[in-house]
Amino acid sequence: MSKHEINVFEIYEYLPQNNCKNCGESNCMAFAQKLVEQRKTIGGCAPLREPIYAKNRQALAKIFELNNQK
Ligand code: SF4
Repeated sequence: MSKHEINVFEIYEYLPQNNCKNCGESNCMAFAQKLVEQRKTIGGCAPLREPIYAKNRQALAKIFELNNQK
């Protein structure tokens, strides 16, 4: 099975996009890039744990889970 190609813009779409820097990055796009490079995990974005972003978090979890399938 081929690896799911993760696109940084696709990931960014699911992030809160408020550039709060809570994750240690200067903005959500930088965090998205780190996720794609597997240098961060979605747990690093605290706002994603808020109920309002539950669907976004689930979608991201699914994307990265798919990518980890062999
Ligand atoms: S913690 Fe989440 S919302 Fe805040 S800058 Fe990082 S990715 Fe964006």
